[in-house]
Order: sequence, then structure tokens, then C-alpha cells
Amino acid sequence: MSFAVTPRDIVTVDVEEWFHGHNYLDHAPPETWDDLEQRVEVGTARCLDLLDRHRVRATFFVLGWTAERHPDVVAEIVRRGHEIGCHSFAHPEVHKLSVGEFRSDCQRALAALAAAGVEQVAGYRAPSFSLTPGVHSYLHVLRELGFTYDSSIFPIRHPRYGQPGSPRHPFLVGDDPDALLEMPMPTWRVAGQNLPFSGGGYMRLLPWPVYRFLRRRARAQGQPCVLYVHPWELDDHRPQAGQSGLTTLRSQGGQDSMPRKLEKLLAEGEFETMGEYAARLRAAGGLPVRHVPGVSA
Ligand SMILES: [Zn+2]
Repeated sequence: MSFAVTPRDIVTVDVEEWFHGHNYLDHAPPETWDDLEQRVEVGTARCLDLLDRHRVRATFFVLGWTAERHPDVVAEIVRRGHEIGCHSFAHPEVHKLSVGEFRSDCQRALAALAAAGVEQVAGYRAPSFSLTPGVHSYLHVLRELGFTYDSSIFPIRHPRYGQPGSPRHPFLVGDDPDALLEMPMPTWRVAGQNLPFSGGGYMRLLPWPVYRFLRRRARAQGQPCVLYVHPWELDDHRPQAGQSGLTTLRSQGGQDSMPRKLEKLLAEGEFETMGEYAARLRAAGGLPVRHVPGVSA
């Protein structure tokens, strides 16, 4: 375990539209996406301004679908000095794809990012952390396509994603020193369970003092606080889709608090990009190795 590497804070932004979340699939299936109002520029611009104000550089995992339609957004993120990662092309739940479909989606996403001017993409994050145990072999596809790290594993119990038995700290996927580096999302371990806190609905709904306590605790346990946020969480005029109950809570609950919490975190944290953290981990060496099955097709 790389406790030799002091953890810092990392802001990650999943750059996608307000309708890309899997909670919206029933209301906004992919064939309707081009007819919906696209607002990614608004939330991304607000995020970039917040980061600039605090001189923080972040990692933006950009959806290929969005890069294809808004190459100017990608260019602006790069111009402001941030790292670009890949968030798939069409926002699939990865565990529903065959290995061939997964490879094609990744290739299409990389082509969209290249067309927007980004040739080198080190990091990948699966939509909704959906790279689950049944498709762990897909990590080899990421390496084959040139990715050097992955941020898709959330070691928690969740009805749609997550893998509570997975390591909570970074590991190499295989013995090769150039093996893909897996960097799991941070969790709070209590009563034998891993609980999430560091982004999305969890961060929006937790009171700031609780969030702050958990962040400090994660760092004390050798985990960086990898925050994840979406442009639509910073968009005050995001369209409302016809939802109710738990779905609304997950996708919109506590939204008003997100800019405020992000501002507080940016003011007091010590930040680096995900790529920089990966480089520090590799340089320190001694990373645990985990073997996952090979790809079969
Ligand atoms: Zn996403």
C-alpha cells in the first residue's frame, strides 16, 4: 500500500449533459439526445471559473458524444491547464456491453477527443462507475488502447454499480511495471462497510462539516479525496425532467449546495490532477498488484 505517497485532494469533473445520467434513461433515451437543450458549456464555464479563482487544476473526464458536439469546450478546458480524461463515448453502462462493444465505444471516444485536439489521454472513467467485477477483464482493453490509469472502481455496495470487495487503495492490474493503474474512489470504512461520500449526490446531501470530517479521515488513511462533480450540478438553470422520489433525490437533491461546498473545498484543499497523482504513485513504487482475468475476444 502506497502510504509513502502523501494523498492530496483531486477534483474530477465528468463532462456530460444533464440528461446523460442513467437515472434519465427512461425520460431521455439516446435517440432523443440531439433534440434536448445542451447546456454543458454553462456548467463547465462555471466550474472552470471556480477552479481558476483558487488556482486549482483538475481532471476532466469528457464524454466523446459531448466532445464531438462541443470541441470548443474541450479546447477551453485544455487552454486553462487541466487534464483531459475519457468518460466513454455514449455513456453506456459498461457491464451491459460485450468486450467488442466496449472497445468500440472507447475507440470512438478517443477519436472524438483527438478531433477536439487531445491526442494523449491517460485516464478513463466508466459512466456511473459501471466497470463491475463481471467485466474486470475490460481493464486490459483500456491498457491495450493506451490508457495508463483507470478511475472506474467504486468499492461500495450500490444497487446499480460498485464492488464492495474491491481494494480501497490503488493497485496495478498485473505484474508489468507499465500495467494499468487502478485508482479506486475514496470510501469511508465503518462497521465493516465501505461508504461513499466524495461526490455526486453523496456530497450534495452531506452537511459540509460531515463531508469535511470524512475527507480528512480518508486522507489520514492514505486515500486522496477524489471529488467528482458534473457540469449540470453547477448549472442553476438546468432543465427539469419529469421525475419523482428517489430518482430526483439522486440526480437533483442538494444541488443548491454544490457550488458552495466546492468553493469551500477549493479554498482549503491541496490539489493535484489524477494524472499527477498516478505519476507520484508509480515513481514511489511498491504498488500492490492484482491479477484480473484476460479478455477472451
Ligand atoms: Zn457520467
